[in-house]
Amino acid sequence: MSGNGDVVLIKDGKRLDGRDFDELRDIKMEVSVLERAAGSAYVEWGKNKVMVGVYGPRELHPKFLQDPTKAMLRCVYNLAPFSVDDRKKPGPDRRSVEISKVTSEALSSVVMLERFPNTVVDVFIEILQADAGTRCAGLTAASLALADAGIPMKDLIASCSAGKIQGQVVVDLMKEEDNFGECDLPMAIIPKKGEVVLLQMDGKLSRDEFKDAYKLAYDGCMKIYDLQRKTLMDSMKKFVGEGGIENGD
Ligand code: ADP
Repeated sequence: MSGNGDVVLIKDGKRLDGRDFDELRDIKMEVSVLERAAGSAYVEWGKNKVMVGVYGPRELHPKFLQDPTKAMLRCVYNLAPFSVDDRKKPGPDRRSVEISKVTSEALSSVVMLERFPNTVVDVFIEILQADAGTRCAGLTAASLALADAGIPMKDLIASCSAGKIQGQVVVDLMKEEDNFGECDLPMAIIPKKGEVVLLQMDGKLSRDEFKDAYKLAYDGCMKIYDLQRKTLMDSMKKFVGEGGIENGD
């Protein structure tokens, strides 16, 4: 967030990509895209491309990490070297460790971990192409992949960001807006309860701007939730249509 006032991000009341202030980027979601993972999801969100694979629950090793009261939910968020303009050095860094941690905490609030003592559920989030908002896209896809794996959950997690560009509060920042805007506010919620499980802020907002950004992000999360449910319902219909239940697959 540089807040560089010289860069034009709004022209004639529209954003650089022609969006209105409260408009999300185009989003596509798909589940069961990987054969070998227990559950998987692929999400395209604007220019972001995110693949998630879920494994488990399976016995956790080394054994001293096991918890007899619940499973561990372990997330790895990885930005691929080819996902950004300049090749990113492969491997974990401070940013990816932070995103893995907040993602894992948000997902742990809905997965019924107490049903699988001594085990681990692994969630691998691979950002194939990044254009800002990847933690929201990653969380949204991870939640779909967990549901696709049939892991019991109280609800999905839906995620979306809002922020401020050129003095205007807007939803779902893309890369130029993230780079040259004044603030980014990623959020994740448990939609049925309306509970916020992730809220971060990079930049500055006044109290009133914060209220507006909070509402835009929250409404964005609810739109994402509708898309997630539709994606899962379509996948279920396809599965039943292909005789999946009768075959005992
Ligand atoms: P988010 O992707 O959740 O918005 P950030 O605000 O940290 O997370 O990053 C914003 C964007 O900056 C990313 O989506 C990506 O396009 C870019 N970015 C992040 N890390 C790097 C990096 N190491 N090299 C190049 N670009 C990066």
